[in-house]
Amino acid sequence: LSFSSCNLPQKLEQNLESAGYLIPTPVQMQTIPAALIKRNMLVSADTGSGKTASFLVPIVSHCSNIRLQHLAEQKGPLAMVLAPTREICVQVEEQAKVLGKGLPFKTALVIGGDAMAGQVYRIQKGVELIVGTPGRLIDLLTKHDINLNEVSVLVLDEVDSMLQKGFRDQVMQIFQALSQPQVLMFSATISEEVEKMASSMARDLIHVIC
Ligand code: AMP
Repeated sequence: LSFSSCNLPQKLEQNLESAGYLIPTPVQMQTIPAALIKRNMLVSADTGSGKTASFLVPIVSHCSNIRLQHLAEQKGPLAMVLAPTREICVQVEEQAKVLGKGLPFKTALVIGGDAMAGQVYRIQKGVELIVGTPGRLIDLLTKHDINLNEVSVLVLDEVDSMLQKGFRDQVMQIFQALSQPQVLMFSATISEEVEKMASSMARDLIHVIC
């Protein structure tokens, strides 16, 4: 498999090349084609495996297709990535910007420590992807009217910690505010408990172990 056989927007292919992503990593080969056809996935992959691009390539592709073909009824985020820490969120958003450069693909970072007003303003002006930590995102969604109707992809990065006590209720609250999104879940290790929860959130889950 190569990136050019994935039928990606041309600009995305160029961005991958400019970033030095010439050959998909094993986890990318096993996930991108299925994610592009909207399958739900539970993926076991280590940090450093290229897992971030495994979900960002399909997300950038999906979002720019929707915008370029004017397929969404309203403006509002189309995809959401939840991660347990600010640092992961920052890294995911940085990579998303690199891959989405020159495309109708704007991002918003929703993490603690930055002023919420700026984050809300950015989202209300129109973004395709929100990357955030669950607690901060719930805080923002509770206080502000954000239209989530068009969010059709949800990523849970580090899903093992995201479905632990403490985070789980927040993640489920966000999940329930969305209308049956495609769910892509990534983790280094996947416990039986996580597996059970994941299966209850997403139908016909594809399991990938890298
Ligand atoms: P990740 O596992 O997502 O944290 O990615 C690890 C590193 O690999 C990051 O610095 C990415 O920029 C880089 N990377 C991801 N995919 C590729 C690829 N196909 N070719 C080269 N580098 C990549």
